[in-house]
Order: sequence, then structure tokens, then C-alpha cells
Amino acid sequence: MTAEHATIAQIRLDPRFLRAAAVLREEHERTVADIIRLTEIPAPPFQEERRAAAYLEMLRDHGLEEVAQDEVGNVMGLRRGFGNGDVLVVAAHLDTVFPAGTDVTVRREGTKLFAPGVGDDTRSLAVNLAFLRAMDAAGIRTRHDILFVGDVGEEGLGDLRGIRHLFAHHPKRERIRGFLTVDSPDVDRIVTGGIGSRRYRVTFRGPGGHSFAAFGLVNPVYAMAEAARGLAAVKVPREPVTTHCVSVIAGGTSINAIPETAVMEVDLRSASEAELKRLDDAFLRIVKDAVAAENGAREGTITADVKLVGDRPAGHTPNGAPIAKLAAAAVAAEGYVPSFEWSSTDANVPMSLGIPALRIGSGGRGGRAHSLEEWIDVEIEESLRGMRASLATILAVAEMETA
Ligand SMILES: [Zn+2]
Repeated sequence: MTAEHATIAQIRLDPRFLRAAAVLREEHERTVADIIRLTEIPAPPFQEERRAAAYLEMLRDHGLEEVAQDEVGNVMGLRRGFGNGDVLVVAAHLDTVFPAGTDVTVRREGTKLFAPGVGDDTRSLAVNLAFLRAMDAAGIRTRHDILFVGDVGEEGLGDLRGIRHLFAHHPKRERIRGFLTVDSPDVDRIVTGGIGSRRYRVTFRGPGGHSFAAFGLVNPVYAMAEAARGLAAVKVPREPVTTHCVSVIAGGTSINAIPETAVMEVDLRSASEAELKRLDDAFLRIVKDAVAAENGAREGTITADVKLVGDRPAGHTPNGAPIAKLAAAAVAAEGYVPSFEWSSTDANVPMSLGIPALRIGSGGRGGRAHSLEEWIDVEIEESLRGMRASLATILAVAEMETA
């Protein structure tokens, strides 16, 4: 038995933890009601305001201190510990991937809830409130202060801007000793690796002209195609995993016109910041060379406007780090088989700063995330099993006072 297993076992046997677990059970329907209420407040990318306002009030109603909203829209509140002011951040993201106008009405079928965003990550917002109520009702004390956060901008082009801002500007940022993002239901897959990414939108522009009469003029599509082929030829390591993709292309005027613009969007990723930088440098050189080649081959001039539209840092919490071992022990104690995985989540930011960080789950099951058919199962036993695992992880990392 490792020290971490012993810590988790001690927490799980503590009368206050047992009381907290009982409160989670008693309040399960309230938690489900909170999930539904929050899910039905739309939170499209860059438009999280309404949900943030509602969540801010909920944090206030839960008796937290220093309840506040920051400049980028994150909402948060502090549960004071008995220690010296070191902080554990427990976060869930407010935003969904779904655009404004998406029908977010929750449909309930038995124990299943269907709605866009219900599992990723709205359930976690409600579950973190349930954790708070359970901790308070049970009189649980932790050494660390726990900063509960509903953050903006986790998904897509949101680019982790909420958590990035938190670590750059929060008054207590120097005191943050750990970070747990509760993101999506499944608790067995613990994310210890943060895949970094750089995303570009490159716009190639030229004079354009008649496809026949102006033949011999530079063509932005030729330059774009050259750049795409160049990226395709870049060799990347499998370990640390590194990938590239030309994912979206657009442009052109008419079938009988040399285009004025051609646009491509590119997604570069790596588990290693150094490999990501190498790939990034190679890509920028490829674009330059492709433009030069086209300008050398034909009349006129094209330009490439390279716009960075996504920039997520890579990072890793070692699987042997105490925070990872505590989470694995808490998950195993509920009978799950934990695994450590790579993904791109809010935890990337603290990981890249060397702060122990993980993505853990909100409990229960779910599926079809990022689709209109997204669902979760709120069946009570499976839900509570996962919630107990995550609550035990939070309490272990926050150093709960045990009997
Ligand atoms: Zn998510």
C-alpha cells in the first residue's frame, strides 16, 4: 500500500467523509436539478455571461468568501482552509462548443439527460456545488483554501483564456499549489498530460484575374497548396506524440478566375513544448518558402497573412506525482481501473507552469460530447460512486483534517 492509498483510505473512513457522502446521496435530485438549470442557460464560446452570472449567484448562495468575477468573465469563490493560505483550485468550465441559438433544452429519459453541453462541462459545475454543500454539512476542514472556479474559454478558440488569465492575474496566483479541473463525467480516465497546440489561419492574397486572359499571374491557391504539401512532408515523432493537420480550406472567386484569396486553417499539436516549437518554426518557414516559390514562378506578388488563432501550452504532471497517485487511489477505491491520459484541458495551463494539475471527472456516465446528441446518465449509484472518487481526490489534495 502506498502512502497515497493510505491517505485515501483514511479519508474514506473518516466519519465526516461518510457524512459528506450521505449528503451527496440525500441531495442527488437537487444536483440533477442544478445540472438541468445550468445546462438550459446557453453558454456559447465567448458568450458565457448569462451562465456566469447565474453561477456567480450560486457560489454566493453556497456561502463562499471573496465571491467575484474577473476581467475575462471567470466567476469564483473561496472556501477558507485552516492552513497558511495555500490554495487548491477546483474548476469547471462554463463554456460549451455550441453556437448561440442551439436548442439547449434538456430531455430526460429515465435516468438519462440529453442536451448539448450537459456533460461537457455543465454537470461538473453542479457537482462542484454539491461537493461544497457536502463538505459544509459534514464540517470538513482542509488545510488549503479551495478556490472554486467556473471558468470561461476552455473550448476551441476560447484557447483556455479563462484559466490562462487566472494564472496570470489572480491575486492569489503565487499561492496556488494544485489545480483540479472537473471536466466531463468519467472518473477512471485521469488526465495527467496536456497536449499543446498552435493553430493558424493563413490567408494568401494576390491580384486575381481572368483564368485565361490573365494566365501567368501568381495564384494564391498554388502557394497554399505548396504550403499544405510542405506541411504534409514534415516528419514528426510518435513519442512525444506530435501531429499536424491542414483542416479547413476556403477561397476562390469563380471557376474562370485566378483567385484573389485562399485561406487555410492548420492545427499543430504536441505533447512536448520543444517539439511543438520545432513544428511551428517549420510550418512558418514552409509558408514563407511557398509564397516565394509562387512569386518566383509567375508574374505579380502574393502575400501570406499568418494569424495565430490558437495557442495552448503543453505540459505534464508526472504519473508518479502525489496528486496523480492520490487521484488514482481515490478512483481505484471505488472499484474503477484508473488510467493516465493525454488531452487538452484547462489543466494544460498549470501543467505548463509546473503546478501539479489534473483533469478529474464529475461522475456517472455520458457520451456524444460536442454533438447535439450529447447525454449523461444520472443514475444515482454510478453517479455517487464517481462523485465520491472525485471528492476524495479534492479532499486529499487539499489536505483534509482527519480524525
Ligand atoms: Zn470540457
